[in-house]
Amino acid sequence: MSVTTERLASGISTTPRKMLVGGVWADALDGAVLETLDPATEEVLTTVPLGGTADVDRAVRAARAAFEPGSPWRRLSPSQRGRLIHRLGDLVLEHAEELALTESRDNGKPVAYAALADIPMAADLFHYMSGWTTKIEGNTIPFSAAPPGSFLSYTTREPIGVVGQIIPWNFPLMMAAWKLAPALAAGCTVVLKPAEQTPLSALRLGELIQEAGFPDGVVNIVTGDGATGAALVAHPDVDKVAFTGSTEVGKEIVRASAGNLKKLTLELGGKSPNIVYADADLPRAVAASAGAIFFNQGESCMAGSRLYVQRPVLDQVVEGLVAEMNRLVVGVGADPATQLGPLVSREQLDRVRGYLTSGVRDGAVPHTGGQSLPATGYFAPPTIFTGAEPGMRIVDEEIFGPVLVVLPFDGLEDVVAVERANPYGLAAGVFTRDVGKAFRTADAMRAGTVFVNTWNALDAALPFGGYKQSGWGREMGHAVLENYLETKTVIADLS
Ligand code: ADP
Ligand code: MG
Repeated sequence: MSVTTERLASGISTTPRKMLVGGVWADALDGAVLETLDPATEEVLTTVPLGGTADVDRAVRAARAAFEPGSPWRRLSPSQRGRLIHRLGDLVLEHAEELALTESRDNGKPVAYAALADIPMAADLFHYMSGWTTKIEGNTIPFSAAPPGSFLSYTTREPIGVVGQIIPWNFPLMMAAWKLAPALAAGCTVVLKPAEQTPLSALRLGELIQEAGFPDGVVNIVTGDGATGAALVAHPDVDKVAFTGSTEVGKEIVRASAGNLKKLTLELGGKSPNIVYADADLPRAVAASAGAIFFNQGESCMAGSRLYVQRPVLDQVVEGLVAEMNRLVVGVGADPATQLGPLVSREQLDRVRGYLTSGVRDGAVPHTGGQSLPATGYFAPPTIFTGAEPGMRIVDEEIFGPVLVVLPFDGLEDVVAVERANPYGLAAGVFTRDVGKAFRTADAMRAGTVFVNTWNALDAALPFGGYKQSGWGREMGHAVLENYLETKTVIADLS
């Protein structure tokens, strides 16, 4: 797929957007809107409705109506449901170029990477999950408390109901797909709340959902901010909430969902250790470790943001990383040559700058990419810190920007000792040519995903999620379906 300059010039529509409630494109009931910006130019792209409590309530009612027994959605056979989901995956691919550009303009990310990663991965989720609709099965289970043959007992799996899904701004369309695909495969209905910074691709997906032929109300998309998300979490008729975002908000959601004891899954932050042994294929380790932090401007929950390098190769690896960093093409995301775009917002840029300042103040040594940054736009300088130590904020906290800290180590036990205090456990990586060492290291990591001699490799079929404060539950793979299903046990006395 290529992104032509003609299409880039034509850009994306500035028409104010509406949100999708019960199959109707609607404004907020009170008419409130929020602006969405192009982070590369700081210009307003367009507005979307700022959904309030009443809008959330309307959307939840629509989702509930669509979930009632006998509704068009509930009357679909599993294979019919699967075909709709598959068709949606096809439509995402058919509109890949447009969606990649939308993603790039709304989020800032390089359009080339959106076309290579975000959009195909979003389509994959729908295609992969479409096959599960016909494979959600219960069991027939022996009943031992009565004579054989006198009881029949079995389980069925049923959709959990109305699901609220709240997603972040770093991979807007991909996060929408990660959330929607399994919920729909399980037969749930959804109210999706995109991030306030990046609502556009989800709204376009809403149009494709209609085009695919999903019944009205099965997917509702309410745009808005944190308060809109909070209204969804507080709503008494939402059966389950699935959230991806910051650990801080994740904890708020745990507290706020107590009202009706919603089922909850959370995919939260990370500060993921990446371990390079002296016996690694160093050019490969350096290239992958640079990708682990600089891909998507470091705005990735699984960024390899804490690099451990075995002492004998420390200087060599740092030198290689600095060279990789200096080679990055920094610029406007919509330029197909760009490898590092702006951060998503002024707020995020200020956050990252705050960490750069704190690192220097704490005595770490910054190495910055030599690139001159554009004067407008939320561009942060890619930065590698050496001389950093645990206890410094840049080492301990998730930065969510293109900032890497490098820590020397002697043996695995040193890494394990530091990692014990890591509140996160989303991803980890190891680079070595020694197979035994690779798997011993993978075994020692308390992380939901461990990369061996690679990073940033994900697949719709592979479970993804966090240990410790990186979250509850898993996304993707058939593991995610558990989050959207209830188990019903039926016990029949045959006498
Ligand atoms: P960030 O701080 O990086 O923007 P957040 O965790 O704040 O990440 O945002 C992730 C998503 O959660 C967004 O869609 C946002 O609107 C939503 N959100 C923020 N605060 C709340 C809240 N208190 N309850 C529910 N959703 C929220
Ligand atoms: Mg926020």
